[in-house]
Amino acid sequence: MKIHEYQAKQILAKYKVPIPAGDVASTPEEAEAIAARLGKRVVIKAQVHVGGRGKAGGVKLAETPGEAKVMASQILGMNIKGLTVEKVLVEEAADIAEEYYLGITVDRAARRNVVMVSAAGGIDIEEVAATAPEKIAKLHLDPAIGMMDFHTRILAEEAGLNPAALRPASGFLKALYKAYVDVDASLAEINPLVLTKDGKLIATDAKINIDDNALFRQKELAELREQQEEDPIEAEAHRRGLTYVRLDGDIGILGNGAGLVMTTLDVVQREGGKPANFLDVGGGAKAEQVTNALDTVLLDKNVKGVLFNIFGGITRCDEVAKGILEATATMNIQVPIVIRLTGTREKEGQELLRGSNLIPAASMQEAARKIVDLVEAP
Ligand code: GDP
Ligand code: MN
Repeated sequence: MKIHEYQAKQILAKYKVPIPAGDVASTPEEAEAIAARLGKRVVIKAQVHVGGRGKAGGVKLAETPGEAKVMASQILGMNIKGLTVEKVLVEEAADIAEEYYLGITVDRAARRNVVMVSAAGGIDIEEVAATAPEKIAKLHLDPAIGMMDFHTRILAEEAGLNPAALRPASGFLKALYKAYVDVDASLAEINPLVLTKDGKLIATDAKINIDDNALFRQKELAELREQQEEDPIEAEAHRRGLTYVRLDGDIGILGNGAGLVMTTLDVVQREGGKPANFLDVGGGAKAEQVTNALDTVLLDKNVKGVLFNIFGGITRCDEVAKGILEATATMNIQVPIVIRLTGTREKEGQELLRGSNLIPAASMQEAARKIVDLVEAP
């Protein structure tokens, strides 16, 4: 789950991380009042759940409260990567000498949290990671040991931070790590961590993502969830009671059982295809249930073909076949559908499908290959 910059900063502040003074505004007048109260040059920042706000024009400096009002009116209502700006953060602007990057996330392959530090922070960090990865110092932490002083020293030195920043940066890293662990974050970033012209370090941006699986014990944070961030098709699927996850490919995937569906995603991928979603139809095979699932998959206009992968255990294949036939008969489907049916009463199931425009496949590999071919060359 994503939270806003101002919310992430509130968390960091509890861990004594220095953040700029400021407040959130929903109207230009509120922004003006906050700027007047701060009495300094301010920065106005769009609060949306995406990065790259700076490049999108969602971060602006204002010298006076009047200017803050104008900037806020420009940023409020702005559309950034599909999200509407409803709030802005108005805070004291920092006089930037250098911009650093600090980040912590999970490295699944290493089964460790990885801490990253770079002296080349700011809006181009993604490019640095892609073109000059040696500029990002990385260290994997043993969860039983956590972040020790020597870790932070190694990282700060390897990253080549300004000598004046080494000691305070160490404090930032330890606080960031503590916050990361305490709130069950999957990502915690300060970018940029600013070294000001008068030699102070301050977190001018903060990003924290919370692990969804930990929300049951992060009740206070769970309340920060917002409708807008949810993918509209995922939201609709959840309203329909389906276990659906949207992906970015073009092959719709349906199967009965989470493990089978995950395997199907892997097999399609291995055959060179790109799955558009995960959808577990669950047990049972009523036409209504299949219609509901298939219709959801087809809400995604990127879908150019559908793969059904059914293993008949308690649910019999002939019942599933009947359900799929009934469902597709009532729907106007423009894309090819490949079906792999195996298990209890598979012969009867396959017999039922004969003569329909549903394309049968004998194995999961064959099904994947067929749908990949169909989608590639319609
Ligand atoms: P992001 O683009 O969504 O990551 O938003 P950031 O909060 O990181 O802001 C983007 C950029 O705006 C930063 O890298 C800075 O260069 C600039 N910026 C942000 N806050 C300040 C500030 O207080 N003072 C100055 N001078 N620049 C700032
Ligand atoms: Mn940033």
